[in-house]
Amino acid sequence: MTALIDRFRSRLPLSASTPVVSLGEGSTPLLHCPRLGKLLGVDLYLKWEASNPTGSYKDRGMTVAVSHALESGARAVICASTGNTSSSAAAYAARAGLPALILIPEGAIAGGKLIQTRALGARVLEVRGNFDAALAGARELAERGTHALVNSLNPYRIEGQKTAVFEIIEELGEAPDAFVIPYGGGGNTRAYAKGLAESGLTTPLYSIESNDRPNTLASAIKIQTPVHRPQVEASGAHILSVTDDEIVAAWLELAREEGLFCEPSSAAGLAFLRRRTDLQGARVVVTITGHGLKDPDIANRHAPPPMKVDADPDAIAAAAQ
Ligand SMILES: *Cc1c(COP(=O)(O)O)cnc(C)c1O
Repeated sequence: MTALIDRFRSRLPLSASTPVVSLGEGSTPLLHCPRLGKLLGVDLYLKWEASNPTGSYKDRGMTVAVSHALESGARAVICASTGNTSSSAAAYAARAGLPALILIPEGAIAGGKLIQTRALGARVLEVRGNFDAALAGARELAERGTHALVNSLNPYRIEGQKTAVFEIIEELGEAPDAFVIPYGGGGNTRAYAKGLAESGLTTPLYSIESNDRPNTLASAIKIQTPVHRPQVEASGAHILSVTDDEIVAAWLELAREEGLFCEPSSAAGLAFLRRRTDLQGARVVVTITGHGLKDPDIANRHAPPPMKVDADPDAIAAAAQ
């Protein structure tokens, strides 16, 4: 197992004695996707972050944040989350032997993520209100000093997440023509901008948000007020928006064309590329942030259901037409 911290320690603000809390995160596949790339008119690579230990890129930041919290003597961790941060915080806290307190917005978290977080032994509290309200509650409790906040406001999260950029450049042997990622709270956009700056690059970074933040079906980017908005706007990233219909179409297309099942928010970047014509022929890396099994209810609504048949070869052959 390669721990992300061991691979990149010299580029992280950790000391040689920081304990490593790792589940084998990072070093994720960079998949060349010529079939989908042809449809989109670009030389397409996907950074498949779904293969992180809890199924999303959040693990990159969580290994660094929880390792640092442990070194600092924290007795517990807390976060507010639309889902993947909670799964990741619960997993790394368990690995570190620390209790995790998770605040989720009432009714707004995808089923797979909630079950994963519960199974990982975290104390889960459903807050009456939206994500912004849950985050405010987590911040205020953390200020009392009893719990280390492991939301992306924690700078160690951003530090860990920037390593995705290092991996992509290392694997391609050079920078691509553009990076594309989804934009929820904006922590990952900041992380990519930092990774690019530390690599001495000015490669365009496209950060794609929902045009209907409070209501989008892509729950991981369903954030009304992005906490990192000022820094995202100052980072030089190109911020663009897509509709839910575009996200669903891109999400199903990725699964059909390349055999990759991600969660809807992860397809925001591909949704953007479907209508973008000025990137034609460019080598583009789109980060796929989380796994499709995280949100089975959405898949159930949009993927074709099975058809019932008798166990008879003629009936099966007829149904296969
Ligand atoms: C957290 C998350 C996002 C949004 O990232 P931000 O850093 O909040 O902008 C997008 N997709 C998935 C799957 C996520 O878990």
